[in-house]
Amino acid sequence: MRDGVVRRTIKRIALLRYNFDLRATRAIQGLGETPLYKLCGTCNQCGACCETPMVPVFTPFFYLKSIRWLIIKWHRLVNGFDFIGENRREKTFIFKCTHWDPETKLCDSYDSRPGMCRDYPRNLIYSVRPEFLEQCSYYAVDCNSERMAAALDDLELPQEELKELKRKLHVSETGDA
Ligand code: SF4
Ligand code: SF4
Repeated sequence: MRDGVVRRTIKRIALLRYNFDLRATRAIQGLGETPLYKLCGTCNQCGACCETPMVPVFTPFFYLKSIRWLIIKWHRLVNGFDFIGENRREKTFIFKCTHWDPETKLCDSYDSRPGMCRDYPRNLIYSVRPEFLEQCSYYAVDCNSERMAAALDDLELPQEELKELKRKLHVSETGDA
């Protein structure tokens, strides 16, 4: 009982900190740089983003054993994430979320879910190359898509090739050429 209260309090503080960092970062980004993409699509509730949450880690922290241990412990105790692996190229830790029910594909602690869960997939429109999970029905469209689409149309490529190019370059809102 007491453990549950302590955990919820820590989660609230962690969420406040996450939101503060996020707003500050985006405010700073907004001064010199607006997002390159707009977020389109809707959630189909496939649950893929909950199946193996991935946490990017600052490169030196990825290698420092004590910090790694702290990050992994934090996510276990506070967020209920079990460490299952890492992606060395992307410097991310990969977890299995104990709050996710693979049957119903629902989160059993949705109201107190971590900031990173609340921010997905909006965070991707700030990446240079947004990569969505394969099952995700959200997608990013380049803010300059109209101009880019017109330029691509001028190339007079075969329809299929044009469609694929537009998809890869995030220039189509509908995925159609
Ligand atoms: S805490 Fe909830 S929203 Fe976040 S990964 Fe787990 S199941 Fe998904
Ligand atoms: S992967 Fe995308 S579509 Fe699937 S649940 Fe997550 S946000 Fe929704």
